[in-house]
Formats: sequence, C-alpha cells, structure tokens
Amino acid sequence: MLDVQTIDSALAQLEHRRKTLPEHAEINALSTAVATISADLVAAETAVSDLEAEQNRAEAEIQPVRERLHRNQTRIADGTIADPKALSSMVEEVAHLQRRISDLEDAELEIMEQLESATATLERLRIKAGQLDQQLADAVARRDQAVAAIDAQVDEQRAERQELSPLLPADLLALYDKIGKSHNGVGAAELRQRQCTGCQLEVNAADLRVFAAAADDDVLRCEECSRILVRTASSGL
Ligand SMILES: [Zn+2]
Repeated sequence: MLDVQTIDSALAQLEHRRKTLPEHAEINALSTAVATISADLVAAETAVSDLEAEQNRAEAEIQPVRERLHRNQTRIADGTIADPKALSSMVEEVAHLQRRISDLEDAELEIMEQLESATATLERLRIKAGQLDQQLADAVARRDQAVAAIDAQVDEQRAERQELSPLLPADLLALYDKIGKSHNGVGAAELRQRQCTGCQLEVNAADLRVFAAAADDDVLRCEECSRILVRTASSGL
C-alpha cells in the first residue's frame, strides 16, 4: 500500500514538475520578444523601401535638369547662338540650372543619409531577430527534452504501479483512491511512532488500543484525517 502511495506521490510530483518547468516562462518571454521584433522589422523594412522610393523620385527629378543644363552648355560652347541677348539669357539659365541641381542634390544626399541609417537599423534588427529565433528554438528543444525525460519517468512509475496494484485487494485500492482524491493525492499514510504521517497527529491511547487489537487484514483509518493507516515495525503498537 505504501509503495503505491510512494509511486502516486512521485507521479504527482512529476506532473507538477512538468507544469512548472522554467522553460515554459522562458518560451513565453521569448515568443513575446519575437513577436515584438517582427513588428519592428516590418516597420524598418517599410522605412527602407519608402526612402528608396524617395531617393528614386529625387534622382528622377534631377535627371531632366542635368540634361537641360548639358544641352545649354553645349549650345553656348559650339557658338550657334549669334544673338548676344539670347546668349546672355542662356548663360543666366545655365547658372540657374546649376543652383537648382545643387539644391536637388543636397536634398537627395539627405535622403541617402536617412536611407543609410534606416538600412543599418534594419540590419541590426535582422541580427537580433535571428538571435531571438535561435534562443526560442533552443528553449523549445530544452523543454521538449525535459518533458520527454519526465514522460519516461511517468511511464516507469505507472508500470511499477500496474505491477503492484493487483497485489492489493480491489476494495482497499478503491478506498485509497477515493480518500486520495480529497486528500491531495495521499490516501494512505504510515503509522509511525504512534503518529499518522499523513496529518502528523498522534493517535490517542484509546484508538491505539483498538489498533493494537485489530487483525492483520483490518483496515485502520486515522481518526483525524481518515487516511488509511499502514502498520509497520516502527508503528509503536
Ligand atoms: Zn491522519
């Protein structure tokens, strides 16, 4: 009987250990971190692609201005403009186009600097996300390993219980199971030094006399906690 109780207590402990593995909390925290960084990654990717589009637009804006400047410079250089007034207005336009190009290039440079910083941020996040994924995979593997080890122990204890339970009378086992359900899984306790090891209370003298006079196959119950009391050599009867 006590061997069955030892197994049942071990099974309860294994169940508790399975539920309270530190890996559960670790996996929860890492999953949250992975979700957060995934959202950050999406935002960073969007920022980079927005800035790339902006840079393309800026480049597209400069291109025709550069072409116009080049055309004007060529016409001034090849001397095809005879009219001095037309020539001077062309020279003025060239100066204006050069200022315009310089302004547009400054604006593009600013976009490129932003793009560089956004790309660096994205790269950092990708590395961090990779590390978190790895940590999560590690934690999951450790949890699975721990659960598998617990499962193996559970199987072992169950097999042992399967061997032991037929050795006990069925009605005694049923009583033990019934008491265990309302007593934290502990339906039987050793009577040791006149004490119930289930509730730790000392058995009174009158009950002790009854217990001492009981037949070997009588089922003794603790008056206090009603658990099945198992007599051993150290019961003090
Ligand atoms: Zn008791």
